[in-house]
Amino acid sequence: MPPQVGIVSLGCPKALVDSELIVTRLRAEGYEISPEYRDADLVVVNTCGFIDEAVAESLESIQEALSENGRVIVTGCLGAKGTLVSDRFPHLLAVTGPHASDEVMQAIHRHLPPEHDPYTSLIPPQGIKLTPGHYAYLKISEGCNHRCSFCIIPSLRGELASRPLHEVMEEAERLIDSGVRELLVISQDTSAYGVDLRYRTGFWKGRPVKTRFLQLTRELGELGAWVRLHYVYPYPHVDEVLPLMAAGKILPYLDVPFQHASPRILRDMRRPARSENTLSRIERWRETCPELTIRSTFIVGFPGESEDDFEALLEFLDRAQLDRVGCFAYSPVEGASANALPDPVPEKIKQERVQRFMTHQAEISAARLQKKIGTLMDVLVDAIEGDTVVARSAADAPEIDGQVLFKGSSGIQAGDMARVKILNADEHDLYAEPVA
Ligand code: SF4
Repeated sequence: MPPQVGIVSLGCPKALVDSELIVTRLRAEGYEISPEYRDADLVVVNTCGFIDEAVAESLESIQEALSENGRVIVTGCLGAKGTLVSDRFPHLLAVTGPHASDEVMQAIHRHLPPEHDPYTSLIPPQGIKLTPGHYAYLKISEGCNHRCSFCIIPSLRGELASRPLHEVMEEAERLIDSGVRELLVISQDTSAYGVDLRYRTGFWKGRPVKTRFLQLTRELGELGAWVRLHYVYPYPHVDEVLPLMAAGKILPYLDVPFQHASPRILRDMRRPARSENTLSRIERWRETCPELTIRSTFIVGFPGESEDDFEALLEFLDRAQLDRVGCFAYSPVEGASANALPDPVPEKIKQERVQRFMTHQAEISAARLQKKIGTLMDVLVDAIEGDTVVARSAADAPEIDGQVLFKGSSGIQAGDMARVKILNADEHDLYAEPVA
């Protein structure tokens, strides 16, 4: 039997439309609507709070649903009246306000997960992914609270809106159940996760867990897949996740978009965490977790960037010894406040600086890869091409970093883990042989 939901809809036509939306979404996900309390696995009561009579009727309906069924979610106008409903009925599964079909559906998923029937369900439980089956991106928030002068993301996607912790964890668990071996945690500002929710306490597996970067990372690290962190800013609290990396709970990998190193340019870029002492932070990270791989991206030729600013950036590269680096020539984006800055850098100089930057970093990256020769590492297989196995180590994110290549072991396929010994390296990739 598919899961059954009872609906009690009170109030005006606007409330009725909200109920219709909930019913539509329930039916689309394979739930049945039950006309009887006793057959329902839970009941949604959509309330009205307009006049005293409507309030009384709503309270009565909630009481009736609790007595007849016991598992009740309240939504609608009465739910928006402070703690009136939850004070009176402390054992409700959830209470939301009106026009809250997302929250109602989340509460239903939490207390009555949809059933997946491989013969009738139109989509698999993990949703439809465009990545290969063994890795997946896990978006933990939308939007951004920063105002970097070269970026218009906040005006396109709004302020930071973190997803509730249980929702992120449920999605991660579904992905892993479907065969995903690596979760790539993404957002605009991953380390800010939960700031907008004031780090409110969420629940996961019946335990209270704060909606916060460290706590989320810790929980993800318990799921048994590789967890890779992207778009992390060097805030002081990021230091707290390094012990998780050192303990092997999450991958020792940080993608930190530094963008520049000259204090003047960082100020004009209005970068988050620009005043942090980045070099000493990187040093501390490596003391805690010597295996750490740091990936970053930079912009050269930002308005006003002098030769001295650019030299400061090259010096930063020497001192930071980053593993993987991307570099872009600054290009103005319509609507960005940086467009109003004086002293644009001529295109020819921008391109020249990109080349100098990449040549400079290539030596650093190659030297860091050389140090891996002779070591053993676990790799995740991405593809088999002829007799070559194309894999990645903990130090390589898909699409953007390098690969570990070795000659085939029979029977190996994409999504398998393999243990290899590194034999050689170039600027980007490692060459290996499988070991037992
Ligand atoms: S570049 Fe800056 S403003 Fe744009 S999304 Fe990233 S942190 Fe937010």
